[in-house]
Formats: sequence, C-alpha cells, structure tokens
Amino acid sequence: MALLTIRTYPDEILKKQCEEVLHVGDDERRLIDDMFETMVQNQGVGLAAPQVGVLKNIIVAAPEGPDKELYAFINPVITKKKGEFVDIEGCLSVPCSSAEVTRARKVWVEALDKKGKRITITVSDLFARIIQHEGDHLKGILFIDYLGFQARKEIIDCARKVKKL
Ligand SMILES: [Zn+2]
Repeated sequence: MALLTIRTYPDEILKKQCEEVLHVGDDERRLIDDMFETMVQNQGVGLAAPQVGVLKNIIVAAPEGPDKELYAFINPVITKKKGEFVDIEGCLSVPCSSAEVTRARKVWVEALDKKGKRITITVSDLFARIIQHEGDHLKGILFIDYLGFQARKEIIDCARKVKKL
C-alpha cells in the first residue's frame, strides 16, 4: 500500500467529472487500498478518487472512524433519498474548513464492491452524509459550493493561504 497525495482546493482536478469504472481489476483494488491508507492516515471518514488525482468513480468511507470497518464503492449511484439533516462538514481537500451543510438523512445506494459485485446498501446519518459528500466529489462538486457567498469566501481565502505556506 502507498500513501497518496491529497489534492487541495483550488486544484482544478477537484472540479472535474469522474469516469465510470467499466472493469474492476487489480489497478482499481490497489487504488482502493491506497485510498484506505491515505484516508486513515489523515483521520478522514471518507475519500473520493479525484482527491488523490484519479478521475474514476470510486469512493471509500469509514463511517465508524478510521480504525473500524472500511467501505469501498465503485460507480456509486444514489437511487433514493429520504429526510434531511444539518451537520458540520469538512473535507480533506479544503484545508481549515468546516461548515453546516444540509444532506438527506437516509440514502439508498447501488454500486460495485472491490470484487466487481453489484451491491445495494441503505445507510443513514453520518454514513449517508459521507456517501453524499464523496459522491459529489465524483461530479466535481465540493461542499463549499452549497454555502452562501460570505461563508464560501472565508473558507476559500483560508484554503488559499494554507496552500501558499
Ligand atoms: Zn471532501
């Protein structure tokens, strides 16, 4: 396994649309293992492939914390959403940031697992939030895109400052 470099805002790759994975092979499995390691090392609870510079529809999640069970979803699609809740959200690609974001409380997800097997999973609360946040990364959307002008500006200014140091 290898630790990957996390791309941070305003890296252009974070605004790009990812491509569907047509075949789940050794390259994808290696990437997932490296993403797990990178997420855990950075104390993250989720990570999407574009955050490590790869434009593929792959996300990983650690809903109970980095030392508990880790999940990988390839080509994840949210097929249904229910309810909503507000909570503080942050992102490894947007340093020094956190803000309140409204997300669906419960989501139904279809994806492929590490073996290329089709899976369906229904998750709620933090796990649902992670999947929505990471799923957004695959479409080039960052959580700061949901914020008002002033909140967004403060986070962007801070992220730029951190990047220059
Ligand atoms: Zn993120």
